[in-house]
Amino acid sequence: MKARIAVLAGDGVGPEVTESAVEVLMAVAARGRHTFTFIHHRIGGCAIDAEGTPLPQGTLEACKSSDAVLLGAVGGPKWDDPTAAIRPEQGLLKIRKELGLFANLRPVKPHPALLSASPIRAERLVGVDLMVIRELTGGLYFGMPRGRESVGGEIRAVDSMVYEEHEIRRVVELAFRLARDRRKKVTSVDKANVLETSRLWRQTAQSIGAANPDVTLEHMLVDTAAMRLVSSPSAFDVLVTENMFGDILTDEASVLAGSMGMLPSASLGGPGPGLYEPIHGSAPDIAGKGIANPIGTILSAAMMLRYSLHLDAEAEAIESAVDDAITEGMRTADLGGHDSLKDVTTRITSLVHHDKEDHA
Ligand code: NAD
Repeated sequence: MKARIAVLAGDGVGPEVTESAVEVLMAVAARGRHTFTFIHHRIGGCAIDAEGTPLPQGTLEACKSSDAVLLGAVGGPKWDDPTAAIRPEQGLLKIRKELGLFANLRPVKPHPALLSASPIRAERLVGVDLMVIRELTGGLYFGMPRGRESVGGEIRAVDSMVYEEHEIRRVVELAFRLARDRRKKVTSVDKANVLETSRLWRQTAQSIGAANPDVTLEHMLVDTAAMRLVSSPSAFDVLVTENMFGDILTDEASVLAGSMGMLPSASLGGPGPGLYEPIHGSAPDIAGKGIANPIGTILSAAMMLRYSLHLDAEAEAIESAVDDAITEGMRTADLGGHDSLKDVTTRITSLVHHDKEDHA
């Protein structure tokens, strides 16, 4: 298999964690005699500094002509001024929209050896294996009208939550397809008791549920879902929800895994490449120190192998190397350990190589 992978390292810890994932992908390539070509481009704050825009045209073109995109993180204190007209996260929103990535998949499956790393009681975490699917190109983050105006001597700001039926349908249908290969349960999360968009969401989910009776569908209000995610997380299989609810619930779900640094994500849906990135931000407080946890990005690379390159065995090889490294006791500082990013990456890379010998 030959694949062209666009690497958008971004800001803060982005370059460190993407370098780790590329090292592991190179081990996978060597193991399976695949040829992966990595093309590096700018996004976010570093792109604003160098090219005056968070998503340069060259970056976008390189992504469109690639098989998959690996992204680190964007942003940092240097570009955090909320009144600035050009901001790093505009690059993220634009690339999702341009690539048509309407679904963001975030699996959460706490490692048995890390249950004590979570503030949630360990017995509640046993059996947790859930996937949150967040709608990514609609809702409040894109709806119009938006903006500010001066009304009666004070500033008025407006954001609009807008959903069309087809935007809901395609992401809920994806949730049903993914649930079919899992425990066959979809929880559709909305705020149908208050919001009109949520009533359309629920009605659309109901019609998809009726057409797919082999998968159990339940509806849950977002406030209840926020509570259940920490009180009984093992009851969930696939959760599907709109953009902003998903943004908030996925960060909450990350607490189950012990650290933000552990969790991967995949953004899918367009005719072109999928985009793979850890769920964390640029972590400016630890950037450049070599102590960031690279596992979220390495597991994002595994999702890339599975969903974009259809290399399931290679994806599993990375996932089991990560599992083994944690079982052996490898821990970066966010998990209470002393291993560096380099230590963890080197161990996972060597386990991927070792796995080849095991199966040779
Ligand atoms: P953050 O995720 O960057 O950091 C939150 C906390 O988690 C910090 O204490 C950080 O040190 C820790 N952390 C994050 N990733 C880690 C890792 N891999 N290993 C160990 N610890 C890790 O969130 P924040 O501090 O709210 O935001 C920092 C910047 O990142 C902001 O500019 C924000 O806009 C941006 N951001 C970017 C993205 C993205 O690129 N997708 C997402 C969220 C935030």
